[in-house]
Amino acid sequence: MELKDVLKELTEAIGISGYEFPAANKTALFLKPYCHEVSLDNMGSVITLKRGEQNGDKRLKILIAAHLDEIGLMITKIEDGGFIRVTRVGGIDVSTLPGQEVKIFAGQGENVIRGVIGAKPPHLQNPGESSKPMGFDDLYIDTGFSKSELEKSVEVGTLVRIESEFTELENGYISAQAMDDRAGVASMIETLRRLTLRKHTWDVYAIATAQEEVSGLGAKSTAFRIEPDIAIAIDVTFGNGPGIPERRSYQLGKGPTIGLGPNFHPKITQKLCDVAKEFEIPYQVEADPHPGGTDAYSLQVSKAGIPAGLLSIPLRNMHSTVEVLKLEDVKRLAELLSVFISQLDSKFQEDLKCF
Ligand SMILES: [Zn+2]
Repeated sequence: MELKDVLKELTEAIGISGYEFPAANKTALFLKPYCHEVSLDNMGSVITLKRGEQNGDKRLKILIAAHLDEIGLMITKIEDGGFIRVTRVGGIDVSTLPGQEVKIFAGQGENVIRGVIGAKPPHLQNPGESSKPMGFDDLYIDTGFSKSELEKSVEVGTLVRIESEFTELENGYISAQAMDDRAGVASMIETLRRLTLRKHTWDVYAIATAQEEVSGLGAKSTAFRIEPDIAIAIDVTFGNGPGIPERRSYQLGKGPTIGLGPNFHPKITQKLCDVAKEFEIPYQVEADPHPGGTDAYSLQVSKAGIPAGLLSIPLRNMHSTVEVLKLEDVKRLAELLSVFISQLDSKFQEDLKCF
């Protein structure tokens, strides 16, 4: 299957933080052909192992992680008239919600009810109301069902996903929801596929982590369990566009970004840059002095501390239903990471503390 189709299937699978199972099952299916072991852990993360060709008792391990979960909505109340109130799971921007179509995953998720997010019409707003930021109190979901009909299958806590279509734009650009971070998951799958064509000595643990958007717990728990020698997170970063500060954004189509800053081990950053240069893989350096925004932080502070790195795909409209990226960047990240892994030897691990 082509990478674009893998990405389409991944972004279409629901996986709101804490309920990643549909996306986890799909991810496990895609990873299975390229690794030796696949399992789901207690948190809902997908854990895979692809063994390297090393001998001896001490097996060197790299953990690569892309997060499985996506942001979404959760029902807080069903009001008279059948109007549903919601809150956010993860960092959803309320201003993007009015006018959206939604799917409500009723029952165990098998019963999907369609709805729309409505708000007060502009004609009826009080003076000054339209200039105030919109909140969840201003929004409701309308399904057409009455309160009593809804209560047969919908309850407080039921998850809601905004409808969005995987859309191919011109020149290799693609728009979809949950690109953050299914694009990272797709890139991780592609990394493993490419590693089947290259020799590597280190064991590779490829993890699709749960709950990055709310707590980073999936990365913390898997790093604790595996205790890798090094770890690299794969995520998305701010793509530039109108109104986006240039110093905090990166070009789409110019390759993945390599994280540089206190969250990232300098030897890992350096080697990623060296590999990119040597193999002529386009890349951008992302200076980030404030650790904390990705799984790279959760990995770095696990156990007694794990040398970590971060590779990111530039993405426009982050945390919306039209997250735009360039497929070429997803492929380049996979190329960079698979070459990096194939070059890891015992000396790299020994040198991590030599400056
Ligand atoms: Zn993310």
